[in-house]
Amino acid sequence: MTAVIFPPLTIPETLAAGPGPGNTDPRVLAAFANAGLADHMQADVLRGMVECKEMLRALWGTKNTYTYGVGGTGFSGLDCMLNAILPGDTVVAFTNGTFSGIDGLTIRMKAATREELAAAPMNPTPASVTIVTVPHGKSVDRATIETALKQHKPKWAFMAHWETGSGRVNDLRAFSDVCLATGALGLIDAVSSLGIADFSIDDYPGVVGWASCPQKGVLCLPLTYAPVSFTDRYIAEVAKTGCHSYVHHPILEARHWGVVEGKDVTAGSYHRTHSGYAVAAFHEALRLTLILGRAAKAASYALHEKALRDAVTALGCEVTSNMTSLVVLNLPPAFTGREKELVQACRAQGFGIWPTLSEPVQVRIGILNQLSQAAITEIVTRFATAMAALGAPVDLAAVKAGLDKHYSAAKAA
Ligand SMILES: *Cc1c(COP(=O)(O)O)cnc(C)c1O
Repeated sequence: MTAVIFPPLTIPETLAAGPGPGNTDPRVLAAFANAGLADHMQADVLRGMVECKEMLRALWGTKNTYTYGVGGTGFSGLDCMLNAILPGDTVVAFTNGTFSGIDGLTIRMKAATREELAAAPMNPTPASVTIVTVPHGKSVDRATIETALKQHKPKWAFMAHWETGSGRVNDLRAFSDVCLATGALGLIDAVSSLGIADFSIDDYPGVVGWASCPQKGVLCLPLTYAPVSFTDRYIAEVAKTGCHSYVHHPILEARHWGVVEGKDVTAGSYHRTHSGYAVAAFHEALRLTLILGRAAKAASYALHEKALRDAVTALGCEVTSNMTSLVVLNLPPAFTGREKELVQACRAQGFGIWPTLSEPVQVRIGILNQLSQAAITEIVTRFATAMAALGAPVDLAAVKAGLDKHYSAAKAA
């Protein structure tokens, strides 16, 4: 048999204007590429991990000792957090889009008994789990949370903070309050909000577990580290019950980041081969966010999202999202059904917008790390050009004038 050897792989530069991954800062890429060849027990790698842990506490706004990164993507951090859920545990999970839907599936897999899992291995429906489905395009609100948690009184409750599939912000304050009032242990998917919204997790005492991802608001590279943070209450529960994982064990994973038996130690202890490259990139991404400041970054996202929202609305689109890193929109009625065609045409030209991944089909345009008038103007111009190519009447000069007005008003304020 002759082996097929392909030419070296070249991946072109694109404008990543989707829900994530974001456009990685060149300084983060440089930190990754310039890290020396070092093993995971080398002193600077270990120091870097301890420093990342401390910077992460500032980013999450927490005193939680168990705050660190889980190697992998967002779902790796979520898997680690959700590992506290054991077969037969009672859970109420609120879902309102693609990602909380997948989290709901993970929860059903973990809470299922052997018999329930064998009955539907890829899609179990354990009796102990209640999935509360909120329609796409709507937020999970206080009334929905109160009704479900008061009725079911579960051990665990789960919600996404920002549901990226539909672009909706859910009521975190209500979730925390009602968890406290009903005794549920709250778990939050903060994949899309960390590094974008200005919030401190210690202000939400009903939530005991938090998980995020490397490549959205944190703006590190995918497959580096997914930030997690666990309260002492959560860790006490895992210490008591155990969990079915070595790799994504919330207590064992913390050891390499210098957290042993609830205390900070100066260097981690070996149990996995961590990557000096990933540590260097993660360290730089955290530094850059903290230098800019959480509040300033959140304000900048709000300003630029508003500019993009107004521009696509002027083009006749209807925005149904309320996150500040992303707009989710319906095309003008005459173009309904052509969303995927438009997205494909844009992607073919290196303009990386996205459709929704579950029904209904909508268009998603993200602004991760695109926080300037020039960048938003570029995104709007490319989108407007693609709409014109579909046959939409587009007055590009008027749209650009609208953007100019938005930004000069912001400067004057
Ligand atoms: C992107 C996303 C995920 C999945 O993150 P990956 O890094 O792709 O594994 C999970 N939840 C939410 C809310 C997300 O936006």
